[in-house]
Amino acid sequence: MPSIAEERVGETLCDPATIPAGREVVWPGDVHNRSLVDHAHPPDWINPDPPPRYNLVVVGGGTAGLVTAAGAAGLGARVALVERHLLGGDCLNYGCVPSKALLRAARAYADVRDAGDYGVRVPEGVRVDFGAVMERMRRLRAGIADHDSAARFRDLGVDVFLGDGRFSGPDSLTVAGKSLRFKKACIATGARAAVLPIPGLEDVGYLTNETVFSLTDLPERLAVIGAGPIGCELSQAFARFGSRVFLIEAGDHILSREDGDAAERIQKALRRDGVELITSAEIQSIEEGGGHKIIRFLRNRADVSIPVNEILVGVGRVPNVEGMGLEEVGVSYDRRKGVEVNDHLQTTNPKIFAAGDVCSATKFTHTADAMARIVIQNALFMGRARASKLTVPWCTYTDPEIAHVGLYEKEAEARGLKVETFTEELAEVDRAVLDGEAEGFIKVHVEAGGDRILGATVVARHAGEMLGEITLAMVGGLGLKTISKTIHPYPTQAEAIKRMGDAYMRTKLTPKVKKLFRKWLSWTR
Ligand SMILES: Cc1cc2nc3c(=O)[nH]c(=O)nc-3n(C[C@H](O)[C@H](O)[C@H](O)COP(=O)(O)OP(=O)(O)OC[C@H]3O[C@@H](n4cnc5c(N)ncnc54)[C@H](O)[C@@H]3O)c2cc1C
Repeated sequence: MPSIAEERVGETLCDPATIPAGREVVWPGDVHNRSLVDHAHPPDWINPDPPPRYNLVVVGGGTAGLVTAAGAAGLGARVALVERHLLGGDCLNYGCVPSKALLRAARAYADVRDAGDYGVRVPEGVRVDFGAVMERMRRLRAGIADHDSAARFRDLGVDVFLGDGRFSGPDSLTVAGKSLRFKKACIATGARAAVLPIPGLEDVGYLTNETVFSLTDLPERLAVIGAGPIGCELSQAFARFGSRVFLIEAGDHILSREDGDAAERIQKALRRDGVELITSAEIQSIEEGGGHKIIRFLRNRADVSIPVNEILVGVGRVPNVEGMGLEEVGVSYDRRKGVEVNDHLQTTNPKIFAAGDVCSATKFTHTADAMARIVIQNALFMGRARASKLTVPWCTYTDPEIAHVGLYEKEAEARGLKVETFTEELAEVDRAVLDGEAEGFIKVHVEAGGDRILGATVVARHAGEMLGEITLAMVGGLGLKTISKTIHPYPTQAEAIKRMGDAYMRTKLTPKVKKLFRKWLSWTR
């Protein structure tokens, strides 16, 4: 029985037997994925002849590598970019882009499902056409791929080499039989899904972020292992599409890194969408039985087993450090933490720098981008830019979203800082109420006695967008006092941020100040 996607684009699906050896394929091999590959790893690409020496050789063509290469070439450097698989890396091919396309479809479903709350009647209920959702994602991804394409980078003046990059000497790297000599190099080889040592997992087979976006049929029962950002986002999306989703987590709550109150709100939202959340679960083994994959785990000392059709592993990322000859060029690394870098993103070989997931504790596209800019300054212009100076926000795109920047309360206290916290519930903000999006809050931590923002967490439908203002305030050294003076259009959800400023200003109205005001007013009456 062909899937909906196969029916729709059936004539364009490629036959595995006809794929030439060595050609990159992204499944399903339809017109969109062929277009993706044509951009990200063109089958007929001819690697250029390298000049005697490059200013910069970049290994890895994900966000970190692309930004480093484009920025350096734009400033006049002679740059080589080496990618073994698909330009665009995780973000374009197996991460942000496809996941956010699915989440948007899931949100469209939820909006129609909940339309009755707004007095809008949907006569025949809501049905998700999973094949169409996935095809939309593939079409949009292929369109965005143009941005990261080999041809575009060649036109930007970058020498693009497709093949496995390996350091072959203190100032040279080999790719597809060609030797590239460099003055400086940048390792931007990213990370991949961590493999879980669960007995039976390899035998029954499982999905990771590299395969889940190739699905054409909706799994009836899906287990998601790991309630981090990837696990939470995709659990909610698949539950909304109609899968019965079991989100299995070893810890006692989801999103363990986040503010506890915020994680609690997301937990409620996932449950409301039908995600069956199983916390404190110790998975023992997985086996095949009755046409299912059966997950056996211990919970509260009881043996539990759940049969599912597919398992998605979303637990952790490990850096790509192997097989690159790092040992031979004196670049130290740790298999878990990645390439060792100093604050200037220089590795233990002063000629070689690193950026992105391969060396960063916070694995985000925007961090990779920011690190790439530091590498350009420091590697090519003797700059002294520091990674520790970056203010890195992040967002998990569940519905509602959860976004954070700066220190958590506990972290601030651990650093010996006295913290004052201001919280505003979205239920108090007109626009959020009118939008039917009142589930959430903003929490801002300031240093006690002042208005300097140490950190903030936002739970809101568009928390990621709202966090930008607080991040700007932190980077610009603006405190809650300035935010209080900033007029926000009414009605907007961002008014909640201004209210934080107002709440801070009210603390300035001490009994003594109030008494003085009263005196002055009675005197001038
Ligand atoms: C499901 C999912 C959703 C995500 N969503 C978000 C999000 O919403 N927002 C966000 O900010 N981040 C998100 N991320 C994280 C984001 O994708 C990564 O942080 C980002 O892609 C890191 O970029 P990078 O350049 O460091 O590495 P990568 O994108 O992994 O790129 C590294 C590249 O190096 C290549 N390579 C490796 N070894 C070699 C070699 N020896 N020779 C040549 N090439 C090599 C690889 O093929 C790869 O293309 C998500 C990740 C996942 C998995």
